[in-house]
Amino acid sequence: MTMRLRARVESRPVSVPGEVTQELLGKINAMEGVLRPLSANDVIIRAVQLLNDRPFKDGRRVIPADELRKIVPLAAGTPVMLAHATFMPGSDGLPVGTTIDGLIEKEGDTTWLTLRYFTLRVHPFLDPQALISNVDGGVIKEASAGLYYDTMTCSICGEDPFECEHAMGKVYPGEGKALAQIRNVTDLDEWSYVYAGMVDGTGFRLAASREAPDPDVELLERLAKLRPMGRCSWDQLFTSSAALRRERREKFESYMKSTPAGA
Ligand SMILES: [Zn+2]
Repeated sequence: MTMRLRARVESRPVSVPGEVTQELLGKINAMEGVLRPLSANDVIIRAVQLLNDRPFKDGRRVIPADELRKIVPLAAGTPVMLAHATFMPGSDGLPVGTTIDGLIEKEGDTTWLTLRYFTLRVHPFLDPQALISNVDGGVIKEASAGLYYDTMTCSICGEDPFECEHAMGKVYPGEGKALAQIRNVTDLDEWSYVYAGMVDGTGFRLAASREAPDPDVELLERLAKLRPMGRCSWDQLFTSSAALRRERREKFESYMKSTPAGA
């Protein structure tokens, strides 16, 4: 974060983390499907860093930044689900939240699609306070998008990656790694809380602002001020969960080797 941005951020009113502001409440009440006006006491608001332009964890696919921008206008109203389940005993595949809006953020070289969303304080099948407590407490900490798209292109030659001569995931000297680029995004059907998503580094944040997102002062910089509160540590959000899982698996395997069968 540059000093210039820091100075600008601090000159603005910064709301309490997680506060339901009039700006956000106005956006919610203007949404299709909201039949009665909701008050600040009705809703819980958070933000999710859902997609970025880094290679997927499979090392073969990527969503370029210009495609992420196409998702911003598709975001409002998108349902928030549990593990992409359209049927789940106890919840019956019903949404647990609704997306308010989307914005593009930059974090170093990475472009992020961040969404703000709300959950009502009541739900027919689960306790929304308990759900959000698990998000805030770092138990539910990854997200995954139900994305529809028309085509993919090879990052090296621009042709269909199933037809061209390049092997996706392979590094070609002087040309870089061949990746299948997702193109012509047509819909964000839903996004879900998941135990592990395909996109590296997804995570949640407290979200609040008194004004509409400002292209000069991105939400990221605004919320970076909250780090000392220990509620949205960037270091934690950007730690690769894949690396953590690998470490756990190695520990497990070495434990299994050191423990005789039947012991
Ligand atoms: Zn190719």
